[in-house]
Amino acid sequence: MQEERKVKLNEILKKSAERESFYLVYQPIIEVKTKKIYAVEALLRMRDHNELGRINPDEFIPILEETGMIKQVGYWIIDEVCQQIKKWNKENGVWIPVSINIDIQQLLDENFVESVKEIIVKHDINPRYIKFEITESEAMKFPEIIIEVLKKLKGIGIEISIDDFGTGYSSLSYLKIMPVSYIKIDKSFVQNIPHNKSDNILVMTIVNLAKLFGFKTVAEGVEEKVQFLFLEEIGCDYVQGYYFSRPVPPDRIKEMLTSQA
Ligand code: C2E
Ligand code: MG
Ligand code: MG
Repeated sequence: MQEERKVKLNEILKKSAERESFYLVYQPIIEVKTKKIYAVEALLRMRDHNELGRINPDEFIPILEETGMIKQVGYWIIDEVCQQIKKWNKENGVWIPVSINIDIQQLLDENFVESVKEIIVKHDINPRYIKFEITESEAMKFPEIIIEVLKKLKGIGIEISIDDFGTGYSSLSYLKIMPVSYIKIDKSFVQNIPHNKSDNILVMTIVNLAKLFGFKTVAEGVEEKVQFLFLEEIGCDYVQGYYFSRPVPPDRIKEMLTSQA
């Protein structure tokens, strides 16, 4: 990104209140067995700015992380998701789990688990409808500390996914003791199946390994039918990607839930 744009964006982010600058879109996560929406992933977006125009997540999320602002915005996201879960329940009569991306700085915040608990209690949401995603590379930065925090989260009923799996060099010894429920296979591998033999083997191995450890698998970045069929064949549990749906506004999720009911 251009230096000038980055400085400007930094200023804008510092000044703005969450609700005015951000919104969330949601991408369905499909259960392979039933081909129905199993959960959705919340993805952060920034509203267009009158000077900077459209600002992509790969521009503003790194700044939120670098400056530590992600901690504050992160709480807003959890709060917003809790409200949305209730809204979908009112509209559709179903409880749809939402998976939220969590930055390592949030996990390392001493008050994180307590604050999350407070938000969930405030909205009277069953914690099983909130899931957290943490990238493999970040989880492996401070594995001992992260494992302790994840244990506490699991203790209050929040399930954890390891995101972008396959890119972060996890050690098997940590994977074994990670209190994790889902492994999300990185889209860079998924996008090459079924035409790239070594990625086929890699994806198959991750699915089998995950099973042995008792984790469910999610493939992200599924764009084509052939990729879905391959994943179905090898026993992957869930899929996510443009083949099923792009990330969409909450009302579109409501419509999808209605039409699959
Ligand atoms: P991620 O968590 O791995 O999210 C998946 C990214 O892949 C999303 O990009 C999504 O739009 C994109 N995607 C989904 N399906 C497909 C597909 O079929 N093909 C391709 N090419 N891409 C697909 P997005 O929304 O730009 O987010 C990028 C990253 O930014 C996320 O990666 C996540 O690490 C981070 N991020 C997004 N929202 C949040 C948030 O609320 N908090 C934090 N801490 N990080 C976030
Ligand atoms: Mg994610
Ligand atoms: Mg990912």
